[in-house]
Amino acid sequence: MDLASITLKQAADLLRQRTVSAVELTQFFLDRIVTHNPELNAFITVDAEGALTAARQADARLAAGQGGPLTGIPLAVKDLFCTKGVRTTCASRMLANFTPPYESTVTRRLQEAGMVMLGKTNMDEFAMGSSNETSYFGPVRNPWDRSRTPGGSSGGSAAAVAAGLCVAALGTDTGGSIRQPASMTGITGLKPTYGRVSRFGMIAFASSLDQAGPMTRTVEDAALLLQAMAGHDPLDATSIDQPVEDYGSLLAQDKGPQERMRGLRIGIPQEYYTDGMAAAVRKSLEEAIRVFQDLGAVCQPVALPCTDYAIPTYYIIAPAEASSNLARYDGIRFGYRCEQPADLADMFARSRSEGFGAEVKRRIMLGTYVLSSGYYDAFYRKAQKVRRLIADDFQAAFTQVDLLLTPTAPETAFRIGEKNADPVKMYLSDIFTINVNLAGLPALSVPCGWDAQNLPIGLQLIGRPLQEGTLLSAGHAFQQVTAWHTRRAYE
Ligand code: GLN
Repeated sequence: MDLASITLKQAADLLRQRTVSAVELTQFFLDRIVTHNPELNAFITVDAEGALTAARQADARLAAGQGGPLTGIPLAVKDLFCTKGVRTTCASRMLANFTPPYESTVTRRLQEAGMVMLGKTNMDEFAMGSSNETSYFGPVRNPWDRSRTPGGSSGGSAAAVAAGLCVAALGTDTGGSIRQPASMTGITGLKPTYGRVSRFGMIAFASSLDQAGPMTRTVEDAALLLQAMAGHDPLDATSIDQPVEDYGSLLAQDKGPQERMRGLRIGIPQEYYTDGMAAAVRKSLEEAIRVFQDLGAVCQPVALPCTDYAIPTYYIIAPAEASSNLARYDGIRFGYRCEQPADLADMFARSRSEGFGAEVKRRIMLGTYVLSSGYYDAFYRKAQKVRRLIADDFQAAFTQVDLLLTPTAPETAFRIGEKNADPVKMYLSDIFTINVNLAGLPALSVPCGWDAQNLPIGLQLIGRPLQEGTLLSAGHAFQQVTAWHTRRAYE
């Protein structure tokens, strides 16, 4: 079997049968990272020693018959999850030398399940971006075409999965940062319901929108990861205190795709089918709709009238929260400090000027502006009201249908540098994903086609709050009858 394109489920079987050991599997991916990372730039930090230690522990557990479905599986982690003793930079000069003294809840849970962390993946600085070009550590390249971006901000995790540098990866999604790069690299990505997964130890960008999720080769793999990540955490007051569904068993049930989809009502939001959508994306979506219909789903148009307000609303709320969250980087307690400050004010100003990149500064200025006393009502409060209307749109749609089906991104991977001069153009990359975060809903991206330039296209399924199970079941049904998710970007 080709280990580079192995799924999590297949790897778990091989490990349990002892066909391969966790140490062998880990070494295999560490070797691939050495070979391919220089051209892709997917990892900021590789922790070979830590990974091999964890792999040896996993092998001991497996040998004692105490392994679970994730024991011994090599994982790549976006570099905004705090990992105790392992440098965590958020792709910023501000944190380039930051080694957290504690572990994020998500990575702790996955380590307790026996996963092996290979290293920390590249991303847009503080997760602000849609192309991975704002990283202090340089852009990530898309394994399907190295002159193009892998999307962002979880572009390093997406490229690592797509290029076979790990079995699975962790991303975070504030406005599309799991789903859009998943779509642009031909992999599967899930943003859970806001609060389903703990944010403790995730470096905050926009706290009311941020959510961690799996980036994998298949929906089945995403289900296994989510199951271990999800659940209430007393350390995160916004985490939801509701039982976690057994997503793994849900997909393992001996059910055919028809049985999964029969009678399910899928809404097609009419507002999404605008001129902004590339022709190849539209064509793939239409084919995907037919696949779901053939499986017995009922597809019908639905209206989300506030769709046009999603981007302006997000670019008020997210920067407002970011400006507040990023106030902690003052050069005093941790992070970058400028050389030889003249006085305290000089230290604040220069540490922040030198430590943050241009996009982060743009967001801090926007956010500070919309929160300032003269403009708070005109911008921030109004945006909060529109956010409610956007959530109400979804709620109304979900009285008629069980799921929504849309493209994940309006176009396929764009060239590095193509949108840099025009931030608004860049912001439009998230036009189909951003409103999902504003409404706090779960959404899944799976590959559904390739365009004429051999670049992947993704479809997005959006579900009701906490109905990750329905999303995963539908995504799995799609993967049972299509082969898009088996395409590989490498030999
Ligand atoms: N591209 C969006 C932004 O720049 C979303 C990023 C994200 O989801 N982290 O804010």
